[in-house]
Amino acid sequence: MNPPLHYAVVGAGIAGLCCARALAAAGVRVTLFDKSRGPGGRMSTRRGEGWACDHGAQYFTARDPAFQAELGRWQAAGAAARWEPRLVVFDADRRRDSGGAEARYVGTPRMTAPARLLADGLDLRVQTTVTALQCYEHGWELATAERGVLAEAFDGVLLAVPAPQALPLLQPVLPALAELAGGARMQACWALMLRFETPLALDFDAAFVNCGPLRWIARDTSKPGREGAETWILHASAEWSEAHLEDSPDHVAAALIAAFCELGGGAPLAWAAHRWRYAITASAVDGGCAWHAGAGLGLCGDWLNGGRVEGAWLSGHALAGRVLANVRDELRPGLVQA
Ligand code: FAD
Repeated sequence: MNPPLHYAVVGAGIAGLCCARALAAAGVRVTLFDKSRGPGGRMSTRRGEGWACDHGAQYFTARDPAFQAELGRWQAAGAAARWEPRLVVFDADRRRDSGGAEARYVGTPRMTAPARLLADGLDLRVQTTVTALQCYEHGWELATAERGVLAEAFDGVLLAVPAPQALPLLQPVLPALAELAGGARMQACWALMLRFETPLALDFDAAFVNCGPLRWIARDTSKPGREGAETWILHASAEWSEAHLEDSPDHVAAALIAAFCELGGGAPLAWAAHRWRYAITASAVDGGCAWHAGAGLGLCGDWLNGGRVEGAWLSGHALAGRVLANVRDELRPGLVQA
């Protein structure tokens, strides 16, 4: 009997995890690699002594029936819940209530919880940065920053990383997919986490901000399942973040805290800044996912499907479907061999 097919999935964000789980459920052997210390990617939470704060994705929506069913599983496992913040909008000249009644969901007790649930039982190798792909007769080999070239070869490689990080991996081996990744533009976001001794006396929990350097502010501790000191997250707008990409954290904190105070907030007891270089997809590349059957190489991620958590999950789901439809294709035309 032939050994089971063995695929590498690079990136354990929500797209890579969904893809890996679907393949594993179908009997494909999957090994997942991520350069970070744990799964979740941009669905992430910073934790300190007595406090925690989601500093990437803030909440997600569920419009697609397949994702709604997945969300149901997360909720049943206690890994997600509905968040019903008192939500307002700050325009340049006025404050108004946010219209619309769309349901918003968050991971519980932290935004990383759905990823941890999905990673359970998978062969996940963290702190492993894939730096190059090489294709040989016996399969794909992966070069990594931490462990050099890995000993095992893979029947296929699925990249579930932001487009700018997929680009250098694709360019030497499959220029056609590199071109696709090169067409996506992702923008930065400065995130500032604030910790307070006592809850702020504000009559809202979150706000979309359409003026000044901020785009979004939220009382993280208003999300379900959160414990510990009051924390707020401030996200700068893409325009401001791009213009201040190389500023020092001190400078960024001063500017964003001043803008927060103008909206009624206050100076925190402590703060922590995080710069997301690739936060949001400015120009979405549509298609859901990309799969080159001949090469055994695929792409998924939010940048291929609308730039959000739900889109990322659906992208991973779509790629697994494409792979499973023709995993036995042994031909590898169009591939630049090492
Ligand atoms: P990612 O989560 O980025 O996962 C990619 C993974 O690949 C990462 O874990 C990374 O460590 C790993 N990786 C990258 N390169 C390599 C390499 N060479 N080797 C190994 N591993 C590698 N979405 C919403 O729906 N609602 C929101 O409110 C929202 N707000 C956001 C706010 C911010 C500040 C940010 C940053 C994002 C926000 N998003 C939001 C977007 C959402 O987080 C993403 O759409 C989604 O999490 C993307 O998932 P992904 O799996 O495609 O990519």
